Amino acid sequence: MTEVLSLEDVELTYPNGKIGLEKLNLTAKKGELIAVIGPSGSGKTTLLRAVAGFLNPSEGSITINGEVMYRRGQSTVPTEKRKLGMVFQQHAIWPHMSVAQNVSYPLRLAGVARSQRAQRVDEILEMVGLDGFGERDPATLSGGQRQRVALARALVNSPRLLLLDEALSALDEPLRDTLRLELRSLASTLGLTMLHVTHDRNEAIALADRMLVLDKGEVMQLGTPAELLDNPANPFIAGFLSDATLIRGGVKDGLFQSVEHDLRYAVSGEPDGDGTLVILPSDIAIDESGAESKQVTIVSSLFGRDHNEVVLDWGGVRMRSRYSGVMHREGDTVSARITQARFYPAKDYSTPGT
Ligand code: ADP
Ligand code: MG
Repeated sequence: MTEVLSLEDVELTYPNGKIGLEKLNLTAKKGELIAVIGPSGSGKTTLLRAVAGFLNPSEGSITINGEVMYRRGQSTVPTEKRKLGMVFQQHAIWPHMSVAQNVSYPLRLAGVARSQRAQRVDEILEMVGLDGFGERDPATLSGGQRQRVALARALVNSPRLLLLDEALSALDEPLRDTLRLELRSLASTLGLTMLHVTHDRNEAIALADRMLVLDKGEVMQLGTPAELLDNPANPFIAGFLSDATLIRGGVKDGLFQSVEHDLRYAVSGEPDGDGTLVILPSDIAIDESGAESKQVTIVSSLFGRDHNEVVLDWGGVRMRSRYSGVMHREGDTVSARITQARFYPAKDYSTPGT
């Protein structure tokens, strides 16, 4: 059986009535790295806390390796029996213990013999790149090294599942990138399953086998990074992951008309009704002449390694475009063309927050 984690119809309402999670379904296979992403307050930490057993859902069930951890009316498996590893943003390592003592703590709790503990601690310190750091006082370590200690401690007892809540967020590049790569290889080499909460969409896209995007406790989309980037399930995903331009309006007789300005766009095969037109930055071509192109003004411009990124004023609509070629400056007038746009019929014009 390769299914490590399974959440079925998990709902979680806080005692004050706040909704933490709504009807959440998720399975994670062995060795799978699932990035959990969403705006602040979307339920990411709530999800991890529910899996860890710090919080109990109001409905649904949580299963690890086929064993029910939580189901209403059944006895709940407590956190310490779930055999999980956890790392949070704050370096939760104990300052009064050496690095080795910190890392071996879970083994001591589990009653592992002293001689075995020492060997295991050495192995795991080597794995996270802290070979020879065992006797060090955590106060003498850098932030990144302390975070590695926390990771080593989470891994030392061979957890069934690793839960990371913004575990890399406090670190600076390039260290962050190094740890990212280490996490990725841990998933592959140890077959370790991870739920990795991050607010960094690029990190999620780069690392994840699959991404779970939450908003207001609800799953917006679950899929591979490529699926979410190429086929956003709704305008929220397109805005949140790709900075797409979202334009409210309606379709009549195959023509989309914005409610806020005079933008129109032909959408074939869409039934009449209200909705959102979504234009991905890669779907606005710059400097291509042609009948459909329009003269627009560059509002702001960023140079990128692989492409330039500009915000355009398209007859009163701010649109983001990503293109390669000559870099344009603020105030330049360029010709631009929408090469593709998608219409999402909906009453709900939810757009990503921060
Ligand atoms: P995230 O980690 O995505 O920023 P959280 O899971 O911390 O979001 O919070 C999800 C929602 O639950 C938010 O609206 C938050 O205000 C609410 N919430 C979190 N913790 C509690 C709590 N202990 N009591 C009541 N509401 C809470
Ligand atoms: Mg959080």
